[in-house]
Amino acid sequence: MKRPILLHPDPRLKKTADAVPDLTDELRALADDMLETMYDAPGIGLAAPQVGVLTRLIVLDCVKEEGEAPRPLIMFNPEIVASSDELNTYEEGCLSIPEQFADVTRPAEVEVRWIDRDGKEQTEALDGLWATCVQHEIDHLDGKLFIDYLKPLKRQLITRKMQKLKRERARA
Ligand SMILES: [Zn+2]
Repeated sequence: MKRPILLHPDPRLKKTADAVPDLTDELRALADDMLETMYDAPGIGLAAPQVGVLTRLIVLDCVKEEGEAPRPLIMFNPEIVASSDELNTYEEGCLSIPEQFADVTRPAEVEVRWIDRDGKEQTEALDGLWATCVQHEIDHLDGKLFIDYLKPLKRQLITRKMQKLKRERARA
């Protein structure tokens, strides 16, 4: 089942999400809903706060090549355990900030530890778009958006555009 995605500015997008103590069927269903919502958007990552749930859960699939098999990842309690000194700049966007894009510089490679859908601990080194995406999504769990990396003026400009978009959508 698809879930509505919250749009910035929204106080729920600025909060720190709570760790998952135990996996439940309800949380697994939430993860499946989030993947469906993400693919439908379409997007390459989604964090639970973006659907209004303040729980440390993200989903992502950064496979972009046509014909390549999808690789949906569900991460409960994801944590960056190591980051490369080497940096990478990508033009980022966000499903909660539609149609706004900006360059963000982050570590090029990160080692991530998480609990998977079966409750098993996983650790994997991610690079390229996967590294950017996982860092962007984990930021959401700490109430941080990609626009928080931008200069204040640019951030305010995007926020004003989003306020306008939300007013238009509310009227429609
Ligand atoms: Zn985002």
